Amino acid sequence: MQSEVMLTTYQDVIAASHRIKGHAHKTPVMTSKTLNDDFGAEVFFKCENFQRMGAFKFRGAFNALSKFDERQRKSGVVAFSSGNHAQAVALSAKLLGIPATIVMPHDAPEVKVEATKGYGGNVVIYNRYTEDREKIGSELANQHGMTLIPPYDHPDVIAGQGTAAKELFEEVGELDFLFVPLGGGGLLAGSALATRALSPGCTLFGVEPEAGNDGQRSFRSGSIVHIETPKTIADGAQTQHLGRYTFPIIQREVDDILTASDDQLIERMSFAASRMKIVIEPTGCLGFAAAKENKNQLRSKKVGILVSGGNIDLKRFCNLVETGLV
Ligand SMILES: *Cc1c(COP(=O)(O)O)cnc(C)c1O
Repeated sequence: MQSEVMLTTYQDVIAASHRIKGHAHKTPVMTSKTLNDDFGAEVFFKCENFQRMGAFKFRGAFNALSKFDERQRKSGVVAFSSGNHAQAVALSAKLLGIPATIVMPHDAPEVKVEATKGYGGNVVIYNRYTEDREKIGSELANQHGMTLIPPYDHPDVIAGQGTAAKELFEEVGELDFLFVPLGGGGLLAGSALATRALSPGCTLFGVEPEAGNDGQRSFRSGSIVHIETPKTIADGAQTQHLGRYTFPIIQREVDDILTASDDQLIERMSFAASRMKIVIEPTGCLGFAAAKENKNQLRSKKVGILVSGGNIDLKRFCNLVETGLV
């Protein structure tokens, strides 16, 4: 399997960083004195909740779409996504003048569906628990000659996602630890390429929801484990398996995969809002939650936490933080 696919390299991440320049934001790196005191460490947050459309996914989508040839641009792009990839493809397509069709689950957060429509995307709804989104997406692609851009398992998507960690290392220098949220692994694989190039000694952890630890099981067993759609508040990481492009990179470059519970995510969302004045969506807190859980190991170290996104509607945010209810 590994020999059949051309794996993304750090050179691709560099090329992506040139393509997205002037289109994606160079997001801020934030620190918190309170948090540094709590951890007894120096902690740097790479805040992709401040990225365009509110998550790192703009990086990968814009990189992939800007490589389209004339025919692909005319026929358009199709994407299937629980939300952030949808918005990322819709916005990138709009900026590049490419028609976009987005296949979204019936229970996607309203704010994400509306934002996708707002960017001019043509939204097609499917049932997350009974229908196969990959099949729907590829049928649309075949029937209309559209190019399917998957949310994580694509070399250009991985390369784009890697630009966030690249910026982090370029800004703060080498790190002892880096914690990265994990769904299908586009962000983690890209971050791994940047990490091994710019901070080779850094211990790199991917962090996924406890309810769906397929990534951890895949990493530890050496082959891709498939699971049912996990029930978790981390809607950006409700993936069923790692990808054939993401897994080999993760397997080769990442130190381990950790998990975080919904309660831990809520607790960190609350901390980030009240102490750092930033809104982070549940999935965006995965890295932060695992770092908190392992803080004794981080004492006196230089630690990076990738905050992957901030798209959550305010009512849901308040409900989660106040009562812990989904
Ligand atoms: C998509 C997403 C993730 C997971 O990214 P993968 O590349 O699928 O691993 C994490 N956080 C947020 C906010 C996301 O939108």
